[in-house]
Amino acid sequence: MGLQIDYMPVGTGEKCGDAIALRYGNLYGSRNEQTVVIIDGGTKDSGQKLVDTVKSHYETDTVDYVFSTHLDSDHLSGLTVVLEQLTVGKLFMHVPWEHLDEISSLLEEDFTNDELEQKLKEDLELIYEVESIAFEKGVPIEEPFVGVPVNDNIAILGPTKEYYETLLCDFRNTPDAKKSAIEQALEAVKRAAEETVEWLDDRFDLDLLNDDEITAAENNSSVILTFNLDGYKLLFTGDAGIEALTAAADLAESVNYPLSDLKFLHVPHHGSKHNVGSSILKRVKAGTSFVSATGETSKHPSKKVTNALIKHGSIVYVTRGRFVLHHNEAPDRGWNTILAEEFHEKVEN
Ligand SMILES: [Zn+2]
Repeated sequence: MGLQIDYMPVGTGEKCGDAIALRYGNLYGSRNEQTVVIIDGGTKDSGQKLVDTVKSHYETDTVDYVFSTHLDSDHLSGLTVVLEQLTVGKLFMHVPWEHLDEISSLLEEDFTNDELEQKLKEDLELIYEVESIAFEKGVPIEEPFVGVPVNDNIAILGPTKEYYETLLCDFRNTPDAKKSAIEQALEAVKRAAEETVEWLDDRFDLDLLNDDEITAAENNSSVILTFNLDGYKLLFTGDAGIEALTAAADLAESVNYPLSDLKFLHVPHHGSKHNVGSSILKRVKAGTSFVSATGETSKHPSKKVTNALIKHGSIVYVTRGRFVLHHNEAPDRGWNTILAEEFHEKVEN
């Protein structure tokens, strides 16, 4: 089965997002022998690039499935452009106000469901905007949870509905989410510390990743998706962290679908060292790994992470503001080959 995965450039500097288009099927045949998928829309600008890519390279105006992994604007904004300009078969997106009863029971303050819905729609206005465009265009929306069917080639490995609902209360914009001032202060201290770079040696026989790194609730709510194209396995992880990835690996292994023989991995959260650890990278392995990151800061991607992936046998590519394509059994586009990430003997601590 043929496959093309197109990564758009997203953002500059520290601002990293994802905007991914892909198509699979018989790519030498007619357009109705292909399935087209978009995973996240990046910024408005990258949303436009997705539209142009689908039209010019996939030669269609139709996208079968659009997935929003999570609500961060660098992942979600561009989907407004996609929904406006392309014909979308189905939108998979989490909609917080579909979970009012579950949220309100966990909140400190009492809200009526109407008040809570209103507040969520104001605070999470981008989701509301995307939802409104989908309604207007008649695009069905389904929430992507474990157990929700997509098609024979695509499965959702995370999050479960229950896990999503627990995370929802910790979202920055959820009312009284108990995100304390202390946590915010700690983040500021951490940022300041990161500015003073300390270098560490790395070698193939060392393991520098921690298993106890944590990421924001929003990131862990990311949809984790797998594609199985006649045994050619792909994994997309959004900005998921160790907790969410571990649950996805547990689920996959429980149905005899190991994630250690992937052909392609979307490295979570732009290669941040806070999203992967030693143990999970022993269970999630791929021949090729893509990192969507500007590469303009040391955080995205972390050299510790790209080194760890290389140690596990992966060839790692970072978008660095470019259009990057992964393909298999697909028509040649005549694009140049980019250099894979090299192993760094010195990494930032
Ligand atoms: Zn992100």
